[in-house]
Amino acid sequence: MGSLPGGYWDATGRLHREFELAALTGREEELLVQARQPQTATLVTEVLSRCVRRLGDISPVPSEVARQLLVADRHYLLLQLRRATFGDLVHANLICPWPDCGERVSLDFSLAEVPVEEARHRAPVHTMTLSAAAPSGSGTAAGGCQVSFRLPNGADQEELSEQLAHNEARALTLLLTRCVQRLGSYEPPEERQLAELSASARSEIEERMQQLAPKVEQTMEAACAECGRTIVAPFDIQRFFLGELRTDGELLYREVHYLAYHYHWSEHEIMEFTRDKRRKYIDVLADTIEVLNSGA
Ligand SMILES: [Zn+2]
Repeated sequence: MGSLPGGYWDATGRLHREFELAALTGREEELLVQARQPQTATLVTEVLSRCVRRLGDISPVPSEVARQLLVADRHYLLLQLRRATFGDLVHANLICPWPDCGERVSLDFSLAEVPVEEARHRAPVHTMTLSAAAPSGSGTAAGGCQVSFRLPNGADQEELSEQLAHNEARALTLLLTRCVQRLGSYEPPEERQLAELSASARSEIEERMQQLAPKVEQTMEAACAECGRTIVAPFDIQRFFLGELRTDGELLYREVHYLAYHYHWSEHEIMEFTRDKRRKYIDVLADTIEVLNSGA
C-alpha cells in the first residue's frame, strides 16, 4: 500500500492516489524479454498495468490508466515495484568523478531514501497567466494571456520519445500541443500557434509545469569510499529497473526448466514466482544436491 505523489484524475473528476502493488513475476520478465522494440515508456505502461493491483477504487488497472499517470507517479511506482520485487538496496559500481580521485568504487544506496516531492497543488487542469515580459512570437498570444494545461504523463512519453531523440525543440512543441488545452482565445490551440509562442513564453509555461508536477529525484548521492567526498550520479529509474529485469530469456527458461524438472511444478506455476523466489529454490536444490553428493 502506498500513495502517489501526484494522483490520477478519472473522467468524472475524481482523484485516485492509494495503490497496491504485486511484485513482478516470471511472466513480466518474459514480457520484457519478448519485447521486440524495447520502447521504454511503452514497457513501463505494460509493467505497471500488470503490477498495480489497485489504484484508488480502480481495479484492475487498465493500461490506458497506467499510460495517463503523471511521469513522476510512474517513476514512483517503479521505485516501489523494485523494492517489492528485489528489495530496497541498490548496488552500483562507478568511477569517482572527482578528478584527483577517479577510483573505482562500489556503493549501496537505499531506494527508500530517494527524495520524493509531492504535487503542491492537485488539479486535473492548471491555469496560469503569461507575464507581460513574455511577448508572443507573431501575435497568437500576448503577455497577460491565460494558459490552461494538464501535466505531462506516460502517454506523452510514449508518443514523444522518438521525436525527442531527433528534434528536441519539435518534441517540446508537440508536448505543449498535447498538454495545453487553452491559449488565450484558442481552445484548444493548434501546433502552429504553440510553435509561434516566443521562447520566453514557452519557458514560462514549462517552468510552471515543472513547479506544479510532483518529483522523484533522478540522481543518487553517496560518499566515495576512497576520498570520502560526495558523488552525485544520474539515476534513471526506468532504465535501471528495466535493465535489471531484462535477464536474458535463455536464463529465465533454464531456471523454469530446472525447477519443473526437480519439483514437478507446472510451467504456469513457476512463472508466477518472482525471480528471488525462483533463485531461492534453486539454491535449496543446489545445497541438497551437494549434500547428496558428499554422502552426508
Ligand atoms: Zn573519490
